[in-house]
Amino acid sequence: MQLCSMCNLANGDHFEEGECYICGGAALKTDAMIAQATALLLEKKAKSFSISTNIDKEWLAKEERAFDQRMRGAESVKNFLNRRISAALSKASGAGYCAEGECKVVFDYSKGAVELREGDLFIFGRYCKRAAGLSQSRWTCPKCEGKGCSNCQGKGKYYESVEERIGEPVKKAAQAQGYTMHASGREDVDATNSAGRPFVLEVNAAKNRTLDLDALSAEIAASGEVEALDLAFVSRSFVEVVTESHFDKTYRAEVEFEKDAGDAEMMRIRTLEGVMLLQQTPTRVAHRRADLIRHRRVKHIEVARAEGQDSRAATLIIQAEAGTYIKELISGDNGRTNPSVSGLLSMKAKCTRLEVTGIDDGYLDLCRNGDANTANARKR
Ligand SMILES: [Zn+2]
Ligand SMILES: [Zn+2]
Repeated sequence: MQLCSMCNLANGDHFEEGECYICGGAALKTDAMIAQATALLLEKKAKSFSISTNIDKEWLAKEERAFDQRMRGAESVKNFLNRRISAALSKASGAGYCAEGECKVVFDYSKGAVELREGDLFIFGRYCKRAAGLSQSRWTCPKCEGKGCSNCQGKGKYYESVEERIGEPVKKAAQAQGYTMHASGREDVDATNSAGRPFVLEVNAAKNRTLDLDALSAEIAASGEVEALDLAFVSRSFVEVVTESHFDKTYRAEVEFEKDAGDAEMMRIRTLEGVMLLQQTPTRVAHRRADLIRHRRVKHIEVARAEGQDSRAATLIIQAEAGTYIKELISGDNGRTNPSVSGLLSMKAKCTRLEVTGIDDGYLDLCRNGDANTANARKR
């Protein structure tokens, strides 16, 4: 096996130099591309940059073969190039490397070309969803892919989304190319959320990077259906902190019973407090989740029954561990959730309205303060 000098450096200089088995010689353009990129950064007077390297997927498969021959001292070519590029660019241009830098240098190895784009922005926040019938992320009609057809009544989508309500005003203000919302879990389309669910909005290729976040928050709230609170700039790495975190939540659930339910029944519901539930993946989500049994604890449950309220209805306040399926805790999902409100009362019970009223996510504020400190340290 022969490698070019670049791929060989990544592989501990172990191979003979020649016609490159991994990249076919494309990586040899790296230093020339760095020179191009330096000129672009200097011309733009950029203070910070991030990089993105696009390489042929074949390289990865082929370097596995090289790894088989030499495990020690080897690194993936992509990592090696990223390191070499960021170090050389900071040195030559005087700009600092930063994952959320003001511009992004794209190294496209299929064309041997370099392109300078606007950098991405990352905005943390907590959203409230005041109206049911909104999905969390964009839900494009699969039939027409957003163009509009009879299937979606010409709208190109099934639901309006929280992502668009927040993303569109931000995109406009930032003069950005696009956005993606990364959230910590999600509520059902028909559920509301007054707790504020943590998210990070990734804003791609943002021309305007000094946004008035308070003004944006007010603009988003004007619709009356979605609010975005606690907005703050964060680093790219915060996306993972938010999406990988799982928090206990409190819910307010309106329940309808098959028959009259009196004080004795309400007492029985209270016995669910502290109980460990066995929840087999609900039938309604089985098509997208692995079918397994989860153990989730009900931390607190209380019945809030107004005087004169229908004896076939009640309001439950439930605090449960992250990942508890509340509708199934009430209905029992044909025996797939045990115990359940329905099972305890030996009659059908159905959740008719669900609201997330609390999310125990204070941990994120601690992380965010740490994040702000590192961001400041980087600027200094
Ligand atoms: Zn090579
Ligand atoms: Zn359609």
